Amino acid sequence: MDKWALICDFDGTITLRDVGDAILTHFKAATKREIKYSYNSNVDMAKWMKNTFTRLTATPKEIEKYLLKAITLRKGFKDINKFCDKNKIPLEIVSGGLDLYSSPLFKKWGLNVKSFFGKAEFMDNNYKISYPYLKGCSLDNFKKSRVKFYQTKNRKVIFCGDATTDLKAAIIADKVYATKKLLSLCKTNNVKTSWLRTFFDIKKFIIKKQQETQRNREYINTMIS
Ligand SMILES: [Mg+2]
Repeated sequence: MDKWALICDFDGTITLRDVGDAILTHFKAATKREIKYSYNSNVDMAKWMKNTFTRLTATPKEIEKYLLKAITLRKGFKDINKFCDKNKIPLEIVSGGLDLYSSPLFKKWGLNVKSFFGKAEFMDNNYKISYPYLKGCSLDNFKKSRVKFYQTKNRKVIFCGDATTDLKAAIIADKVYATKKLLSLCKTNNVKTSWLRTFFDIKKFIIKKQQETQRNREYINTMIS
């Protein structure tokens, strides 16, 4: 009786590029080297985002204008969003990124998905970043807790991610789709993964699993009758 839930990271997973990094580089608020350093496993991602985004001076309007031409959605995401809605499969985005860029992108793509993002307030030419949903928890533990949440509701969880902060969630997930850093991290930690190419692959996987469940159910019924 397999019921599924799908949890996705946002930056570099649902989008092809890391949106936060693209903004910081484009508006020269961080160097490539600083961004590379932020991916070390000992860096507190929420803290890093808070410190680095305060250096950003571009207005939300300027950022939006840049995003709408620079950022691409990974293929199949709109489709899997509809598929999950139709089949009552919980889909959520758990991200260390910010509403500052997720909101205009979701609006452009016409997406309405349950999601966790940090908040960016622009006041006096400055960004104030907060993560109300974390409540003192680290980002990687929070992602893991969302996987656990659906598992305790008797669902199997597919987790999709691309970075160090996704590893803990990936370790306990029932099926992992990974790209970039997470793909190699999973290999070194012996976590079974599939390569995240498009979300069409994930839809195919869910359909295949649902068909297997259906066949098993039919088989059991014939044994009983
Ligand atoms: Mg990411």
